[in-house]
Amino acid sequence: MSGHPYCRRFSNEEIMRIKEMCMAGIPPRQILSSLRQSNPHLRAISRNIYNKKAKILEESLAGRTVIQALVDELGEGGFSYNIEYDQEGYLTHLFFAHPISIELSKSYPHVFLMDCTYKTNKYKMPLLDIIGVSSFNTSFYSCFVFMQKEEEKDYVWALEMFNKILGVHNQPLVIISDRELALMNAIRIVFPSACNLLCMWHIEKNILANCKPHFREEVDWVAFLSTWADLIKSPNESSFDKAWDCFENEYKENAAVLNYIKGTWLPLKEKFVSAWTDEVAHLGNRAISRAEGAHATLKKYLQVSTGGLREVKEKICLAIEHQFQEIKTQLSSEKVRVPHRLRIPFFKEVVTHVSMFALDELYKQHEAAKYGNLSSQCTCHFFKTMGIPCGHMIKDMKIQVLPLNAIHNQWRIDARLFNNDQHASLDDENDQINSLLLDFKEKYEKLPILQKDDTKRQLSQFVGTSFPLILEPKIQPHKGRPLGSKKRNESSSTRREPSKFEIVEKSRKCSVCKGVGHNKSTCPFQVAS
Ligand SMILES: [Zn+2]
Ligand SMILES: [Zn+2]
Repeated sequence: MSGHPYCRRFSNEEIMRIKEMCMAGIPPRQILSSLRQSNPHLRAISRNIYNKKAKILEESLAGRTVIQALVDELGEGGFSYNIEYDQEGYLTHLFFAHPISIELSKSYPHVFLMDCTYKTNKYKMPLLDIIGVSSFNTSFYSCFVFMQKEEEKDYVWALEMFNKILGVHNQPLVIISDRELALMNAIRIVFPSACNLLCMWHIEKNILANCKPHFREEVDWVAFLSTWADLIKSPNESSFDKAWDCFENEYKENAAVLNYIKGTWLPLKEKFVSAWTDEVAHLGNRAISRAEGAHATLKKYLQVSTGGLREVKEKICLAIEHQFQEIKTQLSSEKVRVPHRLRIPFFKEVVTHVSMFALDELYKQHEAAKYGNLSSQCTCHFFKTMGIPCGHMIKDMKIQVLPLNAIHNQWRIDARLFNNDQHASLDDENDQINSLLLDFKEKYEKLPILQKDDTKRQLSQFVGTSFPLILEPKIQPHKGRPLGSKKRNESSSTRREPSKFEIVEKSRKCSVCKGVGHNKSTCPFQVAS
């Protein structure tokens, strides 16, 4: 009896629950155990849930193609989106921004991080993830772009869409990225006034991968790292020039290292050396780690790397909605919170108006002004980068109460009121189209009879245009793993492939020179045979 299909049939209530759990991204195995909890007699196996899921998917398509259904859902959900497809009709680019993300991005337009993540979808399309920063110094997803390739024109397309959702009055001031030249060029083209800083963490890792193999002794490598660290921390241009002369002199014998630094990093010094970056209001963002964290969170929602675009979009929505709830909760709690240590006149105007993150930073500076021995020549880099007065400024101001406008708008919480209405961002657009339609009608009524016919024909032609038949993206060839890595294994894991530096870190020592990152056949010190 137990093998009889009848016992495996789900009740209507169970089907509803399966539907809900599928939508929430719960894997079939967990759906099954949840169903069994309320119905211990359920004989169904995972396979039945998979089949049910496939049927639910088929029903939801209602005869549409996957892309058509996706586009319908994006439109109905109030998303801003755009698609591109090739001559054969295969989708090549998909940009989308959730209405919540658009609202957040317009509210916090100062700093964005841009980074691609992989293994998110079955087509193996890279996913460009643009991340913003809230008043609480937490991250939010701004927009997502699936791209077939990562060339300059792909990034330009993506950033132009991003620019459109921000609008002319919300241009970003700072964009953090890796040294991805195609992306950097696109940033320069689309956001010419933004300052593009490079991720410090990735620079360090690239230095490790490319320079460490050229050091025979560990002590020399450690010395190199410390010289490099001093160089990039140069507080002003003249000290950088001096430090660079020393660096060049120190490593003139090590041509490979010097040429690498000169060729790869020196031309980009303004994008990562303190002398320049400390003049930029990057609000404390000098690494892409925030984006790495956001990718990791997203992958927890995705669970597998084999989902289609519609499933990935669904799960991205869940992640965005969860993030938004957290921001709203924090906003309402901080709007009323006044910690005891801040109950002094100096903070009177700023408490409950700026975030606790900024208040904590301000408190540290205030303490330093009160008790610390402040340097007589403050560079005010803290103020310039964070938009919060530095200890020296606080001391010099000689004021009882800090005015609210002394704090960067980024950290303000009082003026923000996030609307829960998902379609809020569409209101402007609806107003525009409604007024256009009214104008059209008025003009149409006054037209001579033949022109009326003509206009009607054009209009009905436009309305009758059906959505072009667009096919799901072609599966991209596997992104090559760096040399020296272990053999690939195809899997549904969302885990990132190791980067070159990680392989350098892990690899064994060379038998000739005991260095890492190469073996005896590629050793720069090997004796010519
Ligand atoms: Zn200062
Ligand atoms: Zn070697």
